[in-house]
Amino acid sequence: MKRTAALLLALATAPAAAGCSAALGAPASVTGADTLVIGVKPDQPGLGLRTGEGRFEGFDVDVALYVAGHLGVAEEDVRFTAVTSAQREEVLASGDVDLVFATYSITEERKSVVGFGGPYYVAHQDILVRADEEGVEGVRDLEGRTLCQGEGSNSADRVIREKGIAAELHEEPAYGDCIAPLLEGEVDAVTTDDLILAGYLAEEPEGLRLVNAPFTDEQYGVGIALEDVAGCEEVNRALTLMYQDGTAEKLLGRWFGDTGLDLVTSVPQFVGCG
Ligand code: GLU
Repeated sequence: MKRTAALLLALATAPAAAGCSAALGAPASVTGADTLVIGVKPDQPGLGLRTGEGRFEGFDVDVALYVAGHLGVAEEDVRFTAVTSAQREEVLASGDVDLVFATYSITEERKSVVGFGGPYYVAHQDILVRADEEGVEGVRDLEGRTLCQGEGSNSADRVIREKGIAAELHEEPAYGDCIAPLLEGEVDAVTTDDLILAGYLAEEPEGLRLVNAPFTDEQYGVGIALEDVAGCEEVNRALTLMYQDGTAEKLLGRWFGDTGLDLVTSVPQFVGCG
């Protein structure tokens, strides 16, 4: 990891003269990194799914590899590691991970702790219910029902706090852990980003139903250390290119082409770095 290496080097070579010590406090950047550690989800089919030891696949993984390539880091020099929603800020702030591509919505609260490149896509929160569940056609119908979310996600907040809908919250470590309780009737709905729900629906098409009543914009950002503004700007250059050269359209088609969701293939409006 470049940041750790840079810090060790700075410590080892720190000159005694106060006037020359600026290098010690200079922010490390993913620009010019030789290797990268990238956090992705392990349990979200189509986005980030673990396929073996240290191996992951999905849209977020492919976007991460594209950005890494633009930063000059080859695929074999990228190490993917699993992150849960709740871990994302922590692993970036600690420097354990260089970048996070993990269905990570850009929010004001999170922006005070981490930086965000992008968004590289805008998803929309929707609702997944059991196929035989009647009476859930939109977000208002969640009133009085039990919702499952992965810890550290913002999805329940969008319903309960932002929309003032009185729903019960049931939390699991991750969204993948919500599907069994939903199928078994322990919870009434899973409400989160449509891209995530589409992945679970594809695995259980008989037992589940996607309501298809989107009610938020979820701007998927590239999580990066708060102080790495140069890195964030380089990430944005990569994302612009990814849309311009047709890669974004190709990847969206590959991972979500069968979902029936409306896929937007133009570059999203970036939130800006720093
Ligand atoms: N995009 C939402 C969030 O960042 C929900 C999905 C997730 O937790 O990864 O909170």
